[in-house]
Amino acid sequence: MNCINVMLTYEFAIGGKNTGYYSTVWLLSRYSVIVKMKTILFCTFGTSFINRMPQSISLRITPEEAAQEATIKRLAAAQLNINASKINALQITRRSVDARSRQIYVQLQANVFIDEPFVDAFHFEPRLQNVANSQPVLIAGAGPAGLYAALQLIEQGLRPVIIERGKDVRSRRRDLAAMNKDGIVNPESNYCFGEGGAGTYSDGKLYTRSNKRGNIQRCLQWFRHFGAEEKILYEAHPHIGTNKLPGIITAMREGIEACGGSILFDTKLTDFIIEGDALKGVIVNDVERIKASALILATGHSARDIFKLLEKRSIDIEAKAFALGVRIEHPQALINKIQYKCDLTPQLSDTIGVASYSLVSQEMGRGVFSFCMCPGGIIAPASTDEGELVVNGWSPSRRDGAFANSGMVVTVDEKNFAKYGFTGNLAAMHFQQMVEKKAWTAGGGKLVAPAQRMTDFVKRKQSASLPECSYLPGTQSALLHEVLPPEVYQSLAKGFESFGRKMKGYFTEDAIVTATESRTSSPVRIPRNNDSLQHPQIKGLFPCGEGAGYAGGIVSAAMDGDRVAEMVAIFVKQ
Ligand SMILES: Cc1cc2nc3c(=O)[nH]c(=O)nc-3n(C[C@H](O)[C@H](O)[C@H](O)COP(=O)(O)OP(=O)(O)OC[C@H]3O[C@@H](n4cnc5c(N)ncnc54)[C@H](O)[C@@H]3O)c2cc1C
Repeated sequence: MNCINVMLTYEFAIGGKNTGYYSTVWLLSRYSVIVKMKTILFCTFGTSFINRMPQSISLRITPEEAAQEATIKRLAAAQLNINASKINALQITRRSVDARSRQIYVQLQANVFIDEPFVDAFHFEPRLQNVANSQPVLIAGAGPAGLYAALQLIEQGLRPVIIERGKDVRSRRRDLAAMNKDGIVNPESNYCFGEGGAGTYSDGKLYTRSNKRGNIQRCLQWFRHFGAEEKILYEAHPHIGTNKLPGIITAMREGIEACGGSILFDTKLTDFIIEGDALKGVIVNDVERIKASALILATGHSARDIFKLLEKRSIDIEAKAFALGVRIEHPQALINKIQYKCDLTPQLSDTIGVASYSLVSQEMGRGVFSFCMCPGGIIAPASTDEGELVVNGWSPSRRDGAFANSGMVVTVDEKNFAKYGFTGNLAAMHFQQMVEKKAWTAGGGKLVAPAQRMTDFVKRKQSASLPECSYLPGTQSALLHEVLPPEVYQSLAKGFESFGRKMKGYFTEDAIVTATESRTSSPVRIPRNNDSLQHPQIKGLFPCGEGAGYAGGIVSAAMDGDRVAEMVAIFVKQ
């Protein structure tokens, strides 16, 4: 057996069913494993093979050093005790910022190629193929879950047909402009509905804690494949930005179409065709029948009509706890100062980015936590219907806006829903809707958000004036403790004070609180079998993504789509 075979065998052994490539990245990111492997290879094959493997190094350097490629190369050479001229190539495989102390550090992991050809640690070869004449599989929803399911189906040799109630990215923009300028909500096309789903006009944060649920690197690689910058593959907290995401989503759709898949816009799933215990197709736009033996249901957390349809058709669903609260906004300069303990110069900002935060506290028996923080971002209207006010946030890729916003939320469960008389499978959804309606009324309509200064929020005092805010439809001074359920309000108020103690200067009258942040995750879970990922009652129905309760963000939704499509392939090929 030659050396390469030894290495590949090892990779597959640790990578399970993943590709050798993924395992290689895994290996390269763990220096100690590399060292051990090199020792084994050295004992077995001598030095010739070792010289063909890159050295994996870690550097902890200042932002000034990190800004210069030549300096990184020099420091790498010093660490390896070699002359810098011997380095053929250097590839960063991991990058994070440590701002815990007064001196900020950038931590890098890199592969260094010494007198050897460069081998890309991020090499990715998707199995895109022509599936125009293959068996079709229906997907409802063109969000990250639906799109990634489509890509996996193509790799499996199946033809994805996506039905999407909203519009393509470009046409969707006009509806977003109408929301921001005139406060008009199009219930089929908004920040949650349309090509790319809820994530298209977002900060595009690409990190998730659910790394056990799937292959994060593969998910990021697809974004890279369709035009995202390489740095998303190695940044500890990668993000894409609202200005870049639409282009990437368009490229993804074009990639799917080029393989023979299709996306039908303005096409809303309105009913299921079920015979016995098996799905036979769907009805779209109330009239048109589309036959199918498998449906990936990836309609997101805001598709209330789908939850109602499932309930009406007696297809099992269950109410689910979710997080509810407000969106808070500070001047970004203040957050930079608190987190970095210095004024952020443009040069420093280029290397380490503007500051973010992540806060959590236990108050009155409930966890209060920050959610979807958008540095340099904008508070966005995320309502999907008239008469309901929902806020969320986005950032451009450079995160160079004047404000920093974040959701501040508290988990609510069936006890809270029952207090308001909401019971049954749709209890959480009705509770969510109730708070959104109150927020709409308190804002005075047309998507104007009820708001308060942070300090007044805690004092239950109407703000005489409001700080400038990025939320384009406008803000209206209101008493938010009258909008939020008391237990949510009380925990948030205590949480704000406690966050002010953790981050000096955070609790300030210069921060504005807007309501309501209510679409943090789905208020419903659609059950599925752990192994087949099908609905336990209906063969061929595959609940997927955030709306079904299996994801909570772009990456986890995408990974779920990928995983579900693998199971669908097994089902339809049987
Ligand atoms: C403003 C904003 C900012 C966000 N920022 C981030 C972020 O930075 N990072 C992050 O990880 N997450 C973020 N999120 C959350 C993230 O977008 C979602 O978690 C993710 O999009 C869920 O993916 P999904 O595919 O499961 O569902 P969705 O993205 O919700 O997609 C569902 C799709 O189904 C379609 N649909 C609904 N009903 C029907 C029907 N009846 N027929 C046909 N189609 C239907 C919808 O139009 C939609 O396109 C943000 C969300 C918003 C709104």
